[in-house]
Amino acid sequence: MEFMKKNLLGKSFEEILSEVALLGEKPFRAKQIWHFIYVKGVKSFLEMTSLSNELRNKLEESYTLQRPKIITEQKSSDGTIKYLLQLHDGKEIETVYIPSISRGTLCISSQVGCNMGCTFCHTGTQKMVRNLLAEEIVAQVMLVKDILNDFGTNNNHEEDDDDEIEEDSSTPLKRAISNVVYMGMGEPLQNYKEVVKSIKTLNHQEGLAISRRKITVSTCGIIPKIEQLYKDIPVNLSISIHAPNNTLRTSIMPINKQYPLEDLIKVAQDYYNNSNAKRITFVYLMIKGVNDSDQHLKELAKIGKQVPSKFNLIPFHAWDGCDYESSTPERIQYFSDYLHNIGFTSTTRKTRGEDILAACGQLKSKTIREKKFWEK
Ligand code: SF4
Repeated sequence: MEFMKKNLLGKSFEEILSEVALLGEKPFRAKQIWHFIYVKGVKSFLEMTSLSNELRNKLEESYTLQRPKIITEQKSSDGTIKYLLQLHDGKEIETVYIPSISRGTLCISSQVGCNMGCTFCHTGTQKMVRNLLAEEIVAQVMLVKDILNDFGTNNNHEEDDDDEIEEDSSTPLKRAISNVVYMGMGEPLQNYKEVVKSIKTLNHQEGLAISRRKITVSTCGIIPKIEQLYKDIPVNLSISIHAPNNTLRTSIMPINKQYPLEDLIKVAQDYYNNSNAKRITFVYLMIKGVNDSDQHLKELAKIGKQVPSKFNLIPFHAWDGCDYESSTPERIQYFSDYLHNIGFTSTTRKTRGEDILAACGQLKSKTIREKKFWEK
């Protein structure tokens, strides 16, 4: 019966190797199956044409390559596509595809909900339900690659200097999904083991081959895990800083109480020095009257001077029931110009998918509200 079958989608090479061994097959079969799953993107074992009929049937009887179910798919006028996905246990997560001329970025979730409690974050209003398994993280990439017909194209083995946040260049896009950012629902470093495992699968050079320089982990600042990450797999690091002093940061991001800014800056220095990674990205959500004064700007610049870094300023994306509003475009531009003039790379993220609630956690909450309404 279908529900008894094991799902191989998103599994690591080692896991596929051990399943193949259980079937009494030679290890090279695992390589073939891996190639069909991650390079060809097949959805059925029957399509694995270089395997014997007998093995294909055996695989089909015991395993699936089932993708997560799409609950809703919303396409913004700017090309951003937001998916609300249902996992095997009915839990829902979000995945957002953000295309530009030079890259296609997929923003993936690592947890259902989040318990970090950042006051400005819509996901933070949804209680933490569970961590995603590595295969559920990888499955988000596989699903969107299917939809975008992105298998069978050249994999980007090159370690080019592409940058997750810098905006369009004239270089044409080789693959629909060129970059992956762990910036969807959840705090990835709270689900460290599964996140690292998923990165290794995405990065596997005989499979999806997404360069580690095109994978970014975004964290609110779980210091011990940042230290571990550069030892395990030094991908790009993005730190959601959002406030330039401890008093303000603790008031809007409770994690700062445990891991204050000075320690966060120190670990960011270590990450840069030990990882051969690109500059650290400091993400700064621009919230009117909260963190956008001249004094905040000076404090922010001071932080930037202590770490090889760049800034990504993001207009706050308001959601129902929140007390915050975005800084004005002029204020955001002022911050950007100031940082730029003193030598920083500072990009302002375009607000993408405004018409489809593309900020983290918003689509899921909307669905929950609608369900509650109909249940009344
Ligand atoms: S900003 Fe990130 S860490 Fe903070 S509550 Fe939202 S998802 Fe969690």
